[in-house]
Order: sequence, then structure tokens, then C-alpha cells
Amino acid sequence: MDIKELRTHFPALHYQQFHYLDNAATTHKPKIVIDRITDFYTQEYATVQRGLYDAGEHATGSYEWVRDLVASFIGAQESSEIVFTKGTTEGINFIATSWARAQLKKGDEIIVSALEHHANLIPWQQVAQHTGAQLSIIPLKDEHGHLDIKAYEQMLSAKTKLVAITAISNAIGTHPDLKAIIDKAHAVGAYVLVDAAQLVAHRPIDVQELNADFLVFSGHKMFGPTGVGVLYIKKDVHDQVMPYQFGGGMVYQVSYHTAQWAKAPHCYEAGTPPIASVLGLGSAIQFLNRIDRYAVQKHEASLCAQFIQRLKKLKQVRILGDPDYLSSHGHLVSFVVNTMHAHDVAAYLNSKRIAVRAGHFCAQPLLQELHVNAAVRMSVALYNDENDIHACAYALEEIAKF
Ligand code: PMP
Repeated sequence: MDIKELRTHFPALHYQQFHYLDNAATTHKPKIVIDRITDFYTQEYATVQRGLYDAGEHATGSYEWVRDLVASFIGAQESSEIVFTKGTTEGINFIATSWARAQLKKGDEIIVSALEHHANLIPWQQVAQHTGAQLSIIPLKDEHGHLDIKAYEQMLSAKTKLVAITAISNAIGTHPDLKAIIDKAHAVGAYVLVDAAQLVAHRPIDVQELNADFLVFSGHKMFGPTGVGVLYIKKDVHDQVMPYQFGGGMVYQVSYHTAQWAKAPHCYEAGTPPIASVLGLGSAIQFLNRIDRYAVQKHEASLCAQFIQRLKKLKQVRILGDPDYLSSHGHLVSFVVNTMHAHDVAAYLNSKRIAVRAGHFCAQPLLQELHVNAAVRMSVALYNDENDIHACAYALEEIAKF
């Protein structure tokens, strides 16, 4: 992979002149995505699914073309399984509201893991409160943040209706064994939602191979625009999922007192969608499709390995998660500096033009489990290089001398 060449596709890397190491929060956009949005607004602008004039038909065609592209990008059986949302958070809330609240009742169980981002925890707390279902947490097996799969097996029963699991922890980089977790859930008749927010920019996804029932991700973490995400709903589950919002664009027929919905996926997309963002997402997928995804994985893990090697020499630094696994498979490394608050570490790094995340990473319960209030996270994407890692590691070595 020619990283130098790859970097030229990202104007922000040139203009911002930062060591950008906050890719787990959001990624920069390649020019192809920015141009697609500009072209739409300057040359093609019209709304979708409504206008019977040429520009309207064209915009609808482009919008639905991206739906097809997303379907093949994640290995969906049909384009009708792809719903455009605002992002991961909306996708999870969608299923919590439109499926779980109607399908679950007192005595049922929802299982999530100890690794979850608040977006894949709080909506299930709400469902539990509204339905009387119980919320159970797959515990950690060890201080490296691996999940206790034996405990999970023991939790599963005929009462389990949903398992909602992250594909990669945004806080410490753990990759749960998704396939095993999904298969075991299905064996007791439970449905599975996969939070793929951290997966999508770093690994190919095949929803049929995974056999997930629901899968969600955000465009902005995979080189696409903000304001758009994807909710995959397996076709077999469509008749159990109610529309999330009601209004224009999602109906077949309406009278003053009743309404009938259009077919999926249109019944799930009420109102005017974020057309430009959807088109930009399509270009982000085209960009990713042209890149060797396995080479990206190797490159990102090798950057993590270099970083971890440097951190291991600093006795003031505690690495969270599994350093060996992150060195071979990671895209992020979280750590605590014993002698300095995480926010101060991030502020110092910022003074050296290095952007990292500091805080609880929207995973407060997990950090509490690890006895940490706040940590620092450096996360890479395909455009990062050894210079970025060196700059960040060097600045931390300086901090260690304070
Ligand atoms: N889940 C995970 C694992 C995440 O990393 C994030 C973003 N940090 C989210 C959910 C929420 O994504 P968004 O803010 O794009 O909805």
C-alpha cells in the first residue's frame, strides 16, 4: 500500500497539518466523497422518490444505486434489507423502539456485553424499563477486556430474545468472537444486533456469513459524510419491525384515520432523507472497494504494534485491552498515564499538533470495570503512517520525563 499516495486523497490531512489519531471517533473524507456531494448540490440537486421531472428521477436513481452498493458492500441478500439512518445511534434506537418494544415482554431477556458503547447500552436499558424484560451483561473474563464466553453460554436460555453486541470495542479495541456469539444466540431462538461502528472502516463485513439479524454502522467513521448511517434488517425479520417514524415517503395509502405502509425499505425512511450524505456514502464505499482491505488491516495493526512497543518502555503508562492482540489486529490503543490526567495528556499532545481522544469514550461502565476514570485513545486509519506514531510516542516519552 502506498500510504503517501493514499494521503493525497484526503484534503484535510494537507490543510489541517495535524497528526490525526482520532479515527475511532470519526475519519477524514477523501476528495471523491467531497466532490460527490458538491456535484450533487451544484449539478444534480433534486429530492428523491417524489419529483417526476428528470432531475428528480436521476436523484432517485442515484440514491437507490447507493442502496444496492451498500447491500453488496456488506453481503446483504437484497437491497430492501438496507435502511438509511442518521448513524449507528439512530439504527440501534430504531430497533429498540420499532422492534424490541413490541416484541419483548416481562420475563424476556436482553443480553449486551460489558464492552458496549453507551449507544448500544442505554437504548436496551430503556427497552427493559418499558417492557419489564431483564437486561443482562456478558462480563469480562480478565483485565485485558476479553469477554467471558462461558458465562455468556450460561446466561442464554429460551428467555433470551435479543443479544446486542459490538463487533469491536471502541474503548479498548477488543474483538469479540462475533460468529460464535451469534450462533449461540440463534441456538436458543434469540435475535442478534451487531454494532459495527468500529468494524466497517477496518474489515470487510458479510452479514450473511455472520448471520446477523440487525447490523448498524455510521458513514462518518468509514470516510463518508456525517448524518448518514446504515441499518441492515434481515429480510425474514421485516414483518416484525414497525416503521420508526411516520410521515411522507413511507406510505402506500392514507386516509384521515388510517394509513398503510409502503414496502421495506421505504416504510422505514419517513421524510426527506439526507440525499447528499447517502451519495457521499456511496463514494466512500467506492473508495474502500478500490483498496486492498487486508493490506489496510495489516498496516493499521503494524502501526499499533509500533506504538505499543514504545509505550511498553514507559513505566508510567498502563495499556488497556490486550496489547498482543492489538499489535496483530488493532486499529486503536487506549492507555492511562499514571502521573497525568488523561485530559492533560490530550492537551499536551494537542500542543504538539497531535489529535487523540481522552475521556471515557462513551463506555463509562467498561472503564469502571477496568478501574479507570478517564483514558487516552489513539486510533489509526488507512492514511496514518509511522510519522504519526512516532510523533505521538515521542510526546508521551516527553510526558513521562515530567
Ligand atoms: N458504537 C460504537 C462502537 C461507536 O464507536 C460509536 C461512535 N463512537 C457509536 C456506537 C455511535 O456512533 P454514532 O455517534 O455515529 O451514532
